[in-house]
Amino acid sequence: MQAFIYEPLPTRVVFGAGTFDQVRAEAARIATRFLVLATPQQAQLAEQAAQKLGDLCAGVHAGAVMHVPVPVVDEAVAVAEGLGVTGLVAVGGGSTTGLAKAIALRTGLPIVAVPTTYAGSEMTPIWGLTEDGVKRTGRDPVVLPRVAIYDPLLTLGLPAALSGVSGLNAIAHCVEGLYSETANPLVSLMAEEGIRALAKSLPIVVRDPGNIEARGDALYGAWLGGVILGSVGMALHHKLCHTLGGTFNLPHAETHAIVLPHAAAYNAAAAPEAMERIARAMAVPDAPRGLYDLLVAVGAQTALRDIGMPEDGLAKVIGLALTNPYYNPAPLVAEPLRELIDNAFVGRPPASPVARAAA
Ligand code: NAD
Repeated sequence: MQAFIYEPLPTRVVFGAGTFDQVRAEAARIATRFLVLATPQQAQLAEQAAQKLGDLCAGVHAGAVMHVPVPVVDEAVAVAEGLGVTGLVAVGGGSTTGLAKAIALRTGLPIVAVPTTYAGSEMTPIWGLTEDGVKRTGRDPVVLPRVAIYDPLLTLGLPAALSGVSGLNAIAHCVEGLYSETANPLVSLMAEEGIRALAKSLPIVVRDPGNIEARGDALYGAWLGGVILGSVGMALHHKLCHTLGGTFNLPHAETHAIVLPHAAAYNAAAAPEAMERIARAMAVPDAPRGLYDLLVAVGAQTALRDIGMPEDGLAKVIGLALTNPYYNPAPLVAEPLRELIDNAFVGRPPASPVARAAA
């Protein structure tokens, strides 16, 4: 029998087409005066949230940007304090939820999250802040949203390309949850179900972005991915993506999507049960190859060099991956890590055990 610890996170989840309409009722459960947050690109959606909130809304601040720079947080905290709000409504992807979390970290304000991508930040107590080009992350229960409203209708406008890579970002949480140091049976069930829902729906979403059934399945998988990210520790894949994003400013979801098949291949021999579960969820014979084929199927870039990774940065990534040791099922060794990064850099299929055996 496997020994484990499982500690559920207390975020209330409201899921379903049209649930955005419930934002006022949900917000009213936790506070009386809200600031609505969004990126400039989603300012219109923020205005819709403000209208739905009615007299509960004190203002809209559409100033969220990727990676939560500290000056952006300073400005948003000043707006929140100036308006005397008692709660935050974050409408958008991980960048907007990230801004709300950074405000909460300083002020303790409770968050209503309305996610519109598949990043999963709304289900985690993890915050991130970028200062002088360095991204710091940490965990604090005060930043965990009190309620998450998942309305697939809000994802219909998520461009096909971003939908595919954002969905693979969610699959990455599930994959690493399966071989996490703190894995537990419930998280593994959620991981397998999340991969199944996303692998089935993402190719349909990119072909037919208005398909509400597929959008619902993808958002359901994203929710599960977020729960997993918030519940158990991650490993090599997340460490590499954090390094690549932070050091070379590579786009978040795209980086996750490209690296995932290679990180899975790296860990395949050390985590056979996880690979079996991933393959079963995707209905493919080999997990790393199946993840690579899904990346191709959603029309995403397959090579880090095509999303801004400089070739002379490869050695630095390997060096950083080997410093500050952290848990990973397979030991961290320079040569296989170089093979992983090289494959991801040029976009060749992962070196999977099946491919190796056949070679
Ligand atoms: P994002 O929030 O940066 O969004 C990307 C762009 O897409 C933005 O311009 C946004 O306005 C737009 N957009 C979002 N939803 C849309 C929609 N439905 N329709 C049209 N446009 C839409 O991207 P992301 O991948 O969701 O988030 C990435 C960030 O989140 C990174 O900084 C990452 O580190 C962070 N993150 C944090 C956690 C955590 O637990 N703390 C988890 C996952 C991601």
